[in-house]
Amino acid sequence: MTKDLPDTNAIADRITDGLKRVAAVMRSDEWSTAQAMSITPTQLQILNVLEGRMRGLRVTEIAAHLGVSQPTATDSATALLRKGYVEKVAGVDRRSSLLVLTVEGRKALRQAGRAENATRDAVEELPAAEQEELLVSLVRVINTLQEAGAVPVQRMCVTCKYFEPHRHAGKQGPHHCHFVNAPLRRRDFRVDCREHEIADPDTRAATWGSLQTG
Ligand code: SF4
Repeated sequence: MTKDLPDTNAIADRITDGLKRVAAVMRSDEWSTAQAMSITPTQLQILNVLEGRMRGLRVTEIAAHLGVSQPTATDSATALLRKGYVEKVAGVDRRSSLLVLTVEGRKALRQAGRAENATRDAVEELPAAEQEELLVSLVRVINTLQEAGAVPVQRMCVTCKYFEPHRHAGKQGPHHCHFVNAPLRRRDFRVDCREHEIADPDTRAATWGSLQTG
């Protein structure tokens, strides 16, 4: 007679436990990469957040993006300024300054991109269809988190003013990116696109509603 496994906890709890394990590996990878660059993981995260943001970001925006306190973001930004990886530029209103990457900062990030990444390697082991499902599920989870205010709005297709859901017939290219004026498949969804421009809240809600239907 077969026995059912005891239902120790709900599947959502077990997925959350799994994500914690993956996050631990990612943190370890980040430590190694940052150590090789003689910076801290928070400083590395700041360089990654600034990458592709030509206008730059305020320290308060960086702190919100990383989920760290403003003093922590300020200390890390000061260290990066000293190393010459970032510089300050005047904001549009001239009352506040923004941080942007320098050429040195970009060069350092390119080197970091070549570092070992155990999580990416593990994801690449999955069949293509499972990678796509994982990407779409992650986009859904991140979108729910940002709509709940748990994270700032991310540079994802589903929040972008250039994104048009279900523009094309067929599975290959049902969506559309108006920035490059090309079809966009689910597996092409971006999670941190440098061309992203945020859509207004009504458009974001309409896009999300449309995506729930297919
Ligand atoms: S610009 Fe980037 S984020 Fe926006 S729809 Fe195109 S690929 Fe997606």
